[in-house]
Amino acid sequence: MNILVINAGSSSLKYQLIDMDNEALLAKGLVERIGFTGFDSDNFSQKVGDKKVSLHKELKNHKEAFELVIKELTDPEMGAIKDMSSIGAVGHRVLHGGADFTQSVLIADDVLKAIEDNIPLGPLHNPANLTGILACREIMPDVPMVAVFDTAFHQTMPRRAYLYGIDYKYYETLKIRRYGFHGTSHRFVSAEVAKMLGRNDLKMVICHLGNGSSMSAVVNGKCIDTSMGLTPLEGLLMGTRSGDLDPAVIGFVAEREGKSASEMITMLNKSSGFIGLSGGLSNDWRDIIAAAKAGDERGKRTAEVWSYRIRKYIGAYAAAMNGLDVVVFTAGIGENSSDARRLALEDTQWLGIELDEKRNAANETVISTDNSKVKVLVVPTNEELAIARDTLEIVSALK
Ligand code: AMP
Repeated sequence: MNILVINAGSSSLKYQLIDMDNEALLAKGLVERIGFTGFDSDNFSQKVGDKKVSLHKELKNHKEAFELVIKELTDPEMGAIKDMSSIGAVGHRVLHGGADFTQSVLIADDVLKAIEDNIPLGPLHNPANLTGILACREIMPDVPMVAVFDTAFHQTMPRRAYLYGIDYKYYETLKIRRYGFHGTSHRFVSAEVAKMLGRNDLKMVICHLGNGSSMSAVVNGKCIDTSMGLTPLEGLLMGTRSGDLDPAVIGFVAEREGKSASEMITMLNKSSGFIGLSGGLSNDWRDIIAAAKAGDERGKRTAEVWSYRIRKYIGAYAAAMNGLDVVVFTAGIGENSSDARRLALEDTQWLGIELDEKRNAANETVISTDNSKVKVLVVPTNEELAIARDTLEIVSALK
């Protein structure tokens, strides 16, 4: 069965078409600037094997974007399939499932309602995800669709990990708690490791280090803690997000600079992290580490704070799990930067972690020494494939 995987943003739509008979990627594309007019650059791109299409097309809404996607996917020359009937199901990435979803679900009206109800928790993404689902439904009304939530994997966290130390009424009335994100990636990677090592009884720390970054503690395949919270702002230092900080900083700066609460949150989301701490140098790890290696103070301090926090989380999660078998690195930085991994694992020998410098430099899968008590792995994430697998499983059970 061919499964279309959709990740809809407020003005964008990312997609992959995957043949699930052999988990082969048939097509991959991106539509941008949905709802915009008067721009010059191309806003549609698609790759089918070696065939690449790039187009400029003004699109009023997500429905028009989907129509374009289907047209290009079925293009006789540059497309991947003959017609729409060869799409067996659609899997949609949805950011926030709140406490309503512990796993992926077949999309029906009650699911749409629940995604809508969770908009206050994911105000930027959930409306876009919903728009994407509704537009897709209009174009393919008879094709089964599945929602895969970024938060679902973390729903196994115990209360001690998800409750904040604030008045309990906020949990009861406003659902304020830690939810965690990147769940599809954490789940995919932890399952890959279990398969690779042939064991289901592992205590793992997963480090998903990309532009957005998060870590999770996974025991026997279940998440018991994760670094992101109510929103994806908590935890590690990221490209533009601050991660953990004393909430009093918000009031302190807001009062002195006359900023509103929402301006402060925007500052913490958009101009903090790498870009903020480096004094505007870059939000991209490659620039930060290159500057640090060249002795640039801005790059050095940013890399130092970034890697130190990861190390603290590894220690904290080892304590939370009462042990540690595996540390896994994934996503853009985790998969590609041996410098990042080396810095993050500095002074962790006491935990039983022994990094093999050569294996690490070569981006091998196992980067710990043969004697290391804790195995350190580099495992590429594949959220789209995880979404397609869930979709296949749910849709297959319908028959
Ligand atoms: P992601 O959000 O997973 O796409 O990851 C984006 C981050 O990965 C950016 O900070 C990039 O600098 C970093 N990244 C991507 N490729 C590499 C690479 N080859 N070496 C170092 N960092 C990389």
